[in-house]
Amino acid sequence: METFEFRGRTYHIKHDELIDLELSGNKFRKLYTLIQTPSSKYKKIISYGGSQSNAMYSISALCKRKGWSFEYYTKTLSSEVEKSTHSNFALSIKNGMLVKEVKHNEYDQTIQKLLEKKFDAETFLVKQGGAQKEAQYGINNLALEIRKQFKNENINIITPSGTGTTAFYLAKELSEHKIYTTACVGQNEYLKDQIELLGELPKNLTLLQSSKKYHFASLYKEFIELFLEFKKAGIEFDLLYAMKMWTTLIENIDSVKGDILYVHSGGLVGNESMLERYKYKGFYSE
Ligand SMILES: *Cc1c(COP(=O)(O)O)cnc(C)c1O
Repeated sequence: METFEFRGRTYHIKHDELIDLELSGNKFRKLYTLIQTPSSKYKKIISYGGSQSNAMYSISALCKRKGWSFEYYTKTLSSEVEKSTHSNFALSIKNGMLVKEVKHNEYDQTIQKLLEKKFDAETFLVKQGGAQKEAQYGINNLALEIRKQFKNENINIITPSGTGTTAFYLAKELSEHKIYTTACVGQNEYLKDQIELLGELPKNLTLLQSSKKYHFASLYKEFIELFLEFKKAGIEFDLLYAMKMWTTLIENIDSVKGDILYVHSGGLVGNESMLERYKYKGFYSE
């Protein structure tokens, strides 16, 4: 935990990114059940999603440790991703990930089939971003730590969303606190649909809205500027999720009354390749 002053407000930061350098932040929490599983139980893990995914990288690191093979379904790779050397993708390949490239127009159908398939007992399917009920155990640990740290105080908890799994299970467990999130992949309407696949939208969970529409993994001048402002102030966040969350939070800050806890969910491994892209675009120089 750290207390941090930024643009006139005080923030408590929960440094969940330090929990494990490879399985950082909420990926450690969401994969906790698998981390606790004896390596003899499985031979193969299958998952799917984007080629920049933090979850993909974390699963690849976990499989390497456990001696499990890892098969990952993703859409046909861009040349940028194929050429990359420090990206989540490149590092996952180094960890032994086997890629199954699927054509864009066949992707949805392929994933649907994967979800319906009955696998043998030695194979386990991790849904995109770890969005499944097994994630609850690890996220509950995070919730219990927060409850212990803020015993009798009411706090506002901030966490950015991809699938919304982290925000959903945090809100469910910590009904005495308010949870705020925003969609970083797609818009809030889509996020709400994704969350409702896990259960009813908790009353203490608020989806904050930014005035501008942002696209996941795209480059924005205001994101890199904010990132550098944070770095100068002594803290590094990820460029894919946290900058959208902070931009949206700062825009809505007057509606968030009282103490604020920001859960740092990691993802710093992806920053190197994001910074290269920002440099290439001329938004950033060292
Ligand atoms: C994966 C990830 C998220 C999104 O988590 P969800 O549980 O899918 O909403 C947020 N921040 C970072 C840094 C991540 O890596």
